Amino acid sequence: MNIPMLKMNDGHEIPQIALGLWQVRNEAEFNTAFDAAVQGGYTHFDSAQYYQNEQFLGASVKRNNLNREDLFITTKIANDNFGFESTKQSFEESLQKLQMDYVDLLLLHFPVTGLRRESWQALEELQAAGKAKSIGVSNYTVRHLEEMQKYAKVTPAVNQVELHVFLQQPELIAYCQGNGIVVEAYSPLAHAKAGADDPVLSSIAEKHHKTYAQVMLRFLLQLNLVILPKSVTPSRIAENMQVFDFELDTADMTALKQLDRNLRTTWDPTNVE
Ligand code: NAP
Repeated sequence: MNIPMLKMNDGHEIPQIALGLWQVRNEAEFNTAFDAAVQGGYTHFDSAQYYQNEQFLGASVKRNNLNREDLFITTKIANDNFGFESTKQSFEESLQKLQMDYVDLLLLHFPVTGLRRESWQALEELQAAGKAKSIGVSNYTVRHLEEMQKYAKVTPAVNQVELHVFLQQPELIAYCQGNGIVVEAYSPLAHAKAGADDPVLSSIAEKHHKTYAQVMLRFLLQLNLVILPKSVTPSRIAENMQVFDFELDTADMTALKQLDRNLRTTWDPTNVE
């Protein structure tokens, strides 16, 4: 399976789909999901300090005898670990848990007030030291990204934000893509909260002989985003990968754009100072 790649502003490439790992905290469940993902062709895994599963990810890579260079591993600095020294120190602990000497992508998990600037400077150092190939941010609004232009030596390679048919954030996508920042869509299935009963999704799914979840994911791929669907169910992990063999037409895309209704299923960083 050849997964499409997007080019980042630092020259590295990122696979357009990852297995999301939030709320996969049970080791047996993690192992089942990871093995199903490898079986299904996933190479990109989205973890975080906050998810408390970096150690399972590291162990699973070893257990499956995978080549490190064939994988794309992301982790994120937890809000409690912000600050210049704490960012660097907590990242060393992440590397130990992952049993790796670098990650492909290191993100600041949230625009933590008062500490995000020094934490970004720590990420710039970690990238220069080769411990994070690419660095980026998560949950940043346009305002937080514009603020970075005043202090960042390195432009973030990605911004990982909540994005799905019910929360489309077109202005944020336009800003990021206009400034060479890849957008990663988190909760691409709206955290399983709204898609299953939507008649527009069902009718487009029926037309393409796909599921509503595959239509939700395909919509995001056609906006040139990276998608991070999470599942611990092997059949769904496989299903979520079967999104590269069909195309939504203009009428489908227009109908799906009308589903936008500002539905936030997790954090809302809009008013974070
Ligand atoms: P999601 O991927 O939108 O939805 C996950 C839910 O959908 C789970 O309940 C899963 O159930 C179900 N599901 C998965 N595939 C399905 C399918 N084909 N059909 C029907 N249901 C399906 O939600 P998410 O976990 O919130 O987000 C995905 C990833 O984005 C996270 O794991 C994490 O990596 C990242 N994320 C990042 C942030 C951040 O602040 N940076 C915040 C949230 C999420 P089962 O697992 O039971 O199969």
